[in-house]
Amino acid sequence: MNRPASEKNGVDVISAIQRAGIVGCGGAGFPTHAKLKGDIHHLILNGAECEPLLRTDRYLMIHHAAQIVSAATAVKQAVGAQQCTIALKGSYQEEIASLERAIREQDAPISIHKMKSFYPAGDEQVIVAEVTQQVIPPAGIPLDVGCVVSNVGTMYNIALALEGKNVTHKYLTVSGMVKKPTVICVPLGTSFAQCLELAGGIPEGDWMAIAGGPMMGRRLTRDQALEASVIKTTSGILILPIDSLPARKEQITLLHMYQRARSSCIQCRRCTDLCPRHLLGHPLEPHRIMRQMATLALDGNTTDSRILKSAALCCECGICETFACPMQLQPRRVNAMLKQELAREKVRWNKGEGQQEPSLWREGRKAPTKRVAARAGVLEYYDRCGTAGLMQETPDQVTLPLRQHIGAPPTVLVTVGEQVSAGQLIAAAPEGALSANLHASIDGVVVSVGDAIVIRKEG
Ligand code: SF4
Ligand code: SF4
Repeated sequence: MNRPASEKNGVDVISAIQRAGIVGCGGAGFPTHAKLKGDIHHLILNGAECEPLLRTDRYLMIHHAAQIVSAATAVKQAVGAQQCTIALKGSYQEEIASLERAIREQDAPISIHKMKSFYPAGDEQVIVAEVTQQVIPPAGIPLDVGCVVSNVGTMYNIALALEGKNVTHKYLTVSGMVKKPTVICVPLGTSFAQCLELAGGIPEGDWMAIAGGPMMGRRLTRDQALEASVIKTTSGILILPIDSLPARKEQITLLHMYQRARSSCIQCRRCTDLCPRHLLGHPLEPHRIMRQMATLALDGNTTDSRILKSAALCCECGICETFACPMQLQPRRVNAMLKQELAREKVRWNKGEGQQEPSLWREGRKAPTKRVAARAGVLEYYDRCGTAGLMQETPDQVTLPLRQHIGAPPTVLVTVGEQVSAGQLIAAAPEGALSANLHASIDGVVVSVGDAIVIRKEG
């Protein structure tokens, strides 16, 4: 009997992804089953791992290439894509060798696209342009040009889902000033404190943490970090000294930032000239936004100006403020604030509006990753974490927040005192809603249910 193309070994691929609770491994965590809908011609696997210091995806591509390739083949077939490409940096030689071996051994219909080592090579809009030479329209998504971009870590989770395993664990990088920077694999809900122990222990003195990479990760104080736990989108934990550049930037108040923008922006337009979205031909010009903000009253209306509205096109990569601006101003932060205001007022940029040809200077204006790391003040940690080691541990207790992804939180299915086992469904995505299932990550007893489900190991 011929099986439908959406099945692998009798398993419906999209249903398996949905059942396993898979969401995008970095960023906002879009539920993967919902992303794989529509007219998809080209499935692109994102292996760029462009954030300096993170090594998680690189570890997976070296050590789990066979699963990544096999899952990509299954997804390609399930969605009916004509092409599948793994895009990563040409400098990732060990990763390329592992993937090429897996592709050869499985005779997989997958090609590899080698990119230069620049930031943000992994931005969805940038990676689609790199691989296909097509530009996603402003305010558009990859599907607008027939593409879907999925992280290699997400693909690894799909491989496990096709073996009947739900999402219970997370690979992540622990780096920065920890004693032994490493890639670790821990059950979801493991505390950051325990992750830091795996990387040699919590450093003395005061420090700040970043959940994710140094450019786009979420900034946390020491206390916030010690209360945080690993969720499905935690790609890394970086620990930096309290006097490091990212920490000092974080201490600048919004008001102070505005005052500096008003008094110090010299309108050199370097922020615009190096902006990856502007270079793709999107009508985003941070120097104009800065100029307009400088002339606007602090309580002025920001949502009826076309220039300020264009902040909606900003991906918050941080090139403008970390790499470009000679005056150490923060156009990214201004845009992030404007985006919040635009979202509150439900003001959207019309898809495709103002699109132009990509800049002829785009190639020469890509920001080399190592120089970005230097400007971000994290160069001393750049080569500290390799891709060889892996630390694993099962904690005595896990805290699983219900909100781990974009969309509605799942509905709790367990009560306090109930015994659960690892992999068991404990909160289900509401029928018809954009959401994702949540599973117990260890065996134990439910000790609390609220915004998070806490499970404690017995004995
Ligand atoms: S790079 Fe800095 S100084 Fe130059 S225009 Fe942009 S914000 Fe102003
Ligand atoms: S953060 Fe700056 S460089 Fe990045 S997309 Fe936004 S405006 Fe452009």
